[in-house]
Amino acid sequence: MKILIIGDVNVGKTSLINRYVNGQFNKTCKTTVGVDFSLKTLHWSDKERVKLHLWDIAGQERFISMTRVYYKGALGCMVIFDITDSRSFLNCRLWKQDLDLKTLLPNGQPLPCILVANKCDLSQRAVSADSIDMFSKANGFVSWVETSVKENRNVGEAMRRLVQEILSGQ
Ligand code: GDP
Ligand code: MG
Repeated sequence: MKILIIGDVNVGKTSLINRYVNGQFNKTCKTTVGVDFSLKTLHWSDKERVKLHLWDIAGQERFISMTRVYYKGALGCMVIFDITDSRSFLNCRLWKQDLDLKTLLPNGQPLPCILVANKCDLSQRAVSADSIDMFSKANGFVSWVETSVKENRNVGEAMRRLVQEILSGQ
């Protein structure tokens, strides 16, 4: 399964993949240039394994309209924002619109997309749970989840939730 990890610069996309795939968190993460991808085998159940291709897209890419190529063949998406940065939250609408404009599943449906509120370990919150909930519904996300990549909270759960959505649509 090709899964896209998108969102503004500095929200924690690369850190999330690194945490999920390598179980690590680095305080200083080099800025992603262009696109990177990582592989991870998810032990879905006793009998089933799912091979995930996680595509890490540099946040700047939206502005140079190169995303269509990166989105090709994806089956699901995480749109991430930083809970202390309201601009990164509002921009999730643009990321979602860009995604919906340029992608469709083979069955003609939009890609399942989960909204991820990262850095919930920090105390300077700029966005309330209520507004995330409303925003998530208004913009067609399948659900939303709060994570802390730093403290390893909800990262695996968020990925499982998305894979569940992808499998149930197939
Ligand atoms: P990207 O540009 O979206 O790929 O963001 P990075 O993964 O490069 O992360 C940007 C910065 O946020 C780095 O300094 C990370 O260490 C930090 N960061 C990522 N996730 C968390 C988190 O859950 N909590 C905190 N406090 N910092 C985080
Ligand atoms: Mg990055």
